[in-house]
Amino acid sequence: MRLSQQLFVTLRDDPADAEVRSHALMMRAGFMQKLAAGIYVYGPMMWRVLRKVEAIVREEHDKVGAQEMLMPAIQPKELWEESGRWDRYVQDGILFHFRDRKGTEVCLGPTHEEVITTYVKRLVQSYKQLPVTLYQIQTKFRDEIRPRFGLMRGREFIMKDAYSFDTSAEAMAASYTTMRDVYRNIFTRCGLRFTPVEADSGAIGGAGSEEFMVDADTGEDAIAVCRARDYAANVEKASSRISAPDEPESELSMHLEATPNARSCDDLLALFPELPMTRLLKTVLYRAVWDDREQTIAILCRGDRELNEIKIVNHLDCVGLELADEKQVREATGAEPGFAGPIGLADEVHLLADQSVEGVKGFLCGGNQTDMHWLDVWFGRDLEQPETVDFGVVQSGDLMLDSDDVFELTRGIEVGHIFQLGTKYSEAMGATFADENQKIQHMWMGCYGIGVSRVAASAIEQNHDENGMIWPLPIAPYTVHIVQMKAGNEEQDALAAELHDALEAAGIDVLLDDRKKLSPGAKFKDADLVGIPLRVVVGRDAAERMVEYGTRTSEGRDKVSLEEAIEKIKAAIADAGASCS
Ligand code: ATP
Ligand code: MG
Repeated sequence: MRLSQQLFVTLRDDPADAEVRSHALMMRAGFMQKLAAGIYVYGPMMWRVLRKVEAIVREEHDKVGAQEMLMPAIQPKELWEESGRWDRYVQDGILFHFRDRKGTEVCLGPTHEEVITTYVKRLVQSYKQLPVTLYQIQTKFRDEIRPRFGLMRGREFIMKDAYSFDTSAEAMAASYTTMRDVYRNIFTRCGLRFTPVEADSGAIGGAGSEEFMVDADTGEDAIAVCRARDYAANVEKASSRISAPDEPESELSMHLEATPNARSCDDLLALFPELPMTRLLKTVLYRAVWDDREQTIAILCRGDRELNEIKIVNHLDCVGLELADEKQVREATGAEPGFAGPIGLADEVHLLADQSVEGVKGFLCGGNQTDMHWLDVWFGRDLEQPETVDFGVVQSGDLMLDSDDVFELTRGIEVGHIFQLGTKYSEAMGATFADENQKIQHMWMGCYGIGVSRVAASAIEQNHDENGMIWPLPIAPYTVHIVQMKAGNEEQDALAAELHDALEAAGIDVLLDDRKKLSPGAKFKDADLVGIPLRVVVGRDAAERMVEYGTRTSEGRDKVSLEEAIEKIKAAIADAGASCS
């Protein structure tokens, strides 16, 4: 492909809304253009990257016998009512939904469990037809609260989603294991450095779920890693052990103290400098919503720890959870916000505690009166310890549950998620088969997602420098970038064209920068920005059939003959585990 014939425009400056490098660089290189928040046009270069990621995804799925198909983006509400997910998704605000001209409510698919379950249940009658794994690569729609980071969190994005159907829990686990290997192969082939982590399996519970995290400091997910044990889990899921704080020196009786305007832990520590943060219990008020009711929930938690709302939602099995608003706080406590405590809450409030309160003695807590806190409170003596559950966020230095090895925290970008669904959808939607004894059973399902557009963005998040992107070879828009120093020079024109055609004939993606009236400096700048991994410069020595060969990141370039350059390119492609198309 000749660059002179492409619609190719690069920008000098980062877009104002780009918070991460991948976003800024892809915009500057003209790979994509923003149409609205979280909605992008993929330009020709970007589309080439996405198609390469898709090709790897397809090959690895096809290898294990998964079959590609395509489902509609528009889905009827009816199906989502069958599975019982409509209200939760509408409540979350994630669903794009609207009525058609007949007044029937529909949504733009954020995911496809309902559609695939319906499709398969209509086709499968007998155990003889199972197992089966189906997949599609398609645009998904999610009205994300905070679309950002470019393609990382779009409201319209490309996902590969696969679904497996099996006759038993064991068979489902086997399909899941196969897909886990497929995922490892895909992300390895894409040239990403990644960590598989244990993930939260939501209200579905029980069965296994893992996320594939691209290692990146800018990742939105926090990961608890224990290197000694080779274990990693999303902090949403991870559980740890923490030790109880030292007991107070003397056992005083509980008493109310005036704490004017002291609403935060920091305010209180300023008032009571002797008190360790670990003997300060905060009472966090939430409003939980179920399909048929709402309730204020109070959760006690040690001052130095944080609550994990995913664990709270899982425990309560609610469809929504938000911090209580000021009115709800006043109703629950009879006080201004900032003074909530476990003693004397309104009757309808459900009081729970995080496991961090275990063993805390002589603590400070809110007084449920404006400007007042209780001091020297003891569970057992002054109030019963509420039901105590692990609602905490793992912190760096916490211990593993079953050993004295410690967790550290890192960050990652979730590019894939695999999930054992069990019979959740098949039971809700009646997806059954007849077993060997003609007994009707529910199918055992798994689901497996990859954010195709997010994979591309995270590759750049991991591979860039101050000059631009550095594409891993297997997913680069082109494999070779020929920079012709002076377009219009006869020898250079001829040699660049010969190299270009020879590479194309060998099935190698090549971009030839043959733009006229552009300085070599400007061409190199663009080449660095676009980040194509292999580079050949056709310049002064063209008359001798000599070129310079290097990579996007190599310090210098080797002077070689055209034939040698082609050999080196082929070797580099083989090295990267890629093949010529
Ligand atoms: P997240 O926690 O990042 O919101 P999710 O857990 O909701 O993602 P899944 O439902 O597991 O996402 O979707 C499968 C894959 O699709 C994710 O692993 C991720 O790579 C990708 N993905 C999800 N949401 C987006 C988005 N808004 N933009 C781009 N890719 C996304
Ligand atoms: Mg996920």
